[in-house]
Amino acid sequence: SAKIKEAIKKEAQEKNVRFLRLMFTDIDGVIKNVEVPVSQLDKVMSDEMAFDGSSIDGFVEIDQSDMKLHPDLDTWLIFPWELKNSDGKIARFICDVHMPDGTPFAGDPRNNLKRVVEDMKELGFTAFNLGPEPEFFLFKLDENGKPSKTLNDNGGYFDLAPTDLAENCRRDIVLELEALGFEIEASHHEVAPGQHEIDWKYADAVEACDNIQTFKLIVKTVARKHGLHATFMPKPIEDISGSGMHFNMSLFNEDGNAFYKENSEEGLSDTAYQFIAGLLDHAQAYTAVVNPIVNSYKRLTPGFEAPVYVAWSGTNRSPLIRVPSSRGNSTRVELRSVDPTANPYLALAVLLKAGLKGISEAKSAPNPVNKNIYNMDQIERNENNIQSLPKNLYEALEALKKDEVIKSGLGEHIFSRFIAAKETDWANFAKSVSQWETDRYFELY
Ligand code: GLN
Ligand code: MG
Ligand code: MG
Ligand code: MG
Repeated sequence: SAKIKEAIKKEAQEKNVRFLRLMFTDIDGVIKNVEVPVSQLDKVMSDEMAFDGSSIDGFVEIDQSDMKLHPDLDTWLIFPWELKNSDGKIARFICDVHMPDGTPFAGDPRNNLKRVVEDMKELGFTAFNLGPEPEFFLFKLDENGKPSKTLNDNGGYFDLAPTDLAENCRRDIVLELEALGFEIEASHHEVAPGQHEIDWKYADAVEACDNIQTFKLIVKTVARKHGLHATFMPKPIEDISGSGMHFNMSLFNEDGNAFYKENSEEGLSDTAYQFIAGLLDHAQAYTAVVNPIVNSYKRLTPGFEAPVYVAWSGTNRSPLIRVPSSRGNSTRVELRSVDPTANPYLALAVLLKAGLKGISEAKSAPNPVNKNIYNMDQIERNENNIQSLPKNLYEALEALKKDEVIKSGLGEHIFSRFIAAKETDWANFAKSVSQWETDRYFELY
């Protein structure tokens, strides 16, 4: 790694890097930054950057607050834009959070994911690949530069300009992402007005989550330059589609994709069915992690291509899990409930844990449901043993507290901080009085 450090120093000098951003993700999934001048590069690369962990939500108490940032040298990247007031560039490292003695901090979501990936390796797998499909909305900024509630366009699914006014913005996002090494596979207008989706090539667990965090930062930054506000809020407007972030997941071993089995009826291995079984078994509990905010549950309602019921299918898009038709190395399981407010590191850790549990216990998956579940009534769903996803954050948190497997995917530290933060949110929401209530009751009673 001395060699890598030298190469980084050389590039920093050649490309006139003036500032270093040390990035990590808090439990809420929000990117945190410590920025230092490039003169600190040596210090940064020798793990000497200390910060106050008590200032980060869900990290540590004030009496044990000295923490250190350990930069992952593989995440070194120079942002394409120039500094505003002088020439020069900003570079970043994604960091793991360490205790003062250099051991990984259990409350760091990225460390936690690495821990669960180790469990996976013990079961003989080499990689857990994730291809995410994040969706987002673009809203106009008002005269004061504040986000407004005015959508940026009236386009619809796969529309082209001139309806798709965001086309230039989206194109710029794609160009910036490509400059950062993303291999973009698709970029299109989504179903709702002002709604977009950008997809890129899958990567192994930790890298895939790093990419999601970088992606969100780039989308927001580029949108601003176009006078737009990008939001990943799952349901910013009622009565139109919400934004999801489908997770396409596959396990690999030394022979390649472990979900694929040539010459079997559906081209799927036992491992794939077991993984699906694990995902179905623990759906109630991990929903709190993959749909972590009050607003997430406004999206998980019938009629907008977002899942409501716990089932899987090869063909139809109404259930929680879909197995897209590609096979061979692209064989994958698509979880459709995840939304872009999920902390990707936490989400992937609990999903991997759920899937591995299905595998280690050789669970068998129920029959696929190849019928539109939205059109079934309660009786028919009961006959088919189809449960609903939690209806709100409260129900989801209750389910999470009861599921030891999913809890172990978060670890004790993150679990307790996560529950505490989310229960506070729920309590505040529960006592708020909404416009809907005033409209409905104020004059009637
Ligand atoms: N926006 C939908 C959701 O909430 C997904 C639509 C799609 O990608 N087909 O998940
Ligand atoms: Mg898609
Ligand atoms: Mg989509
Ligand atoms: Mg999809």
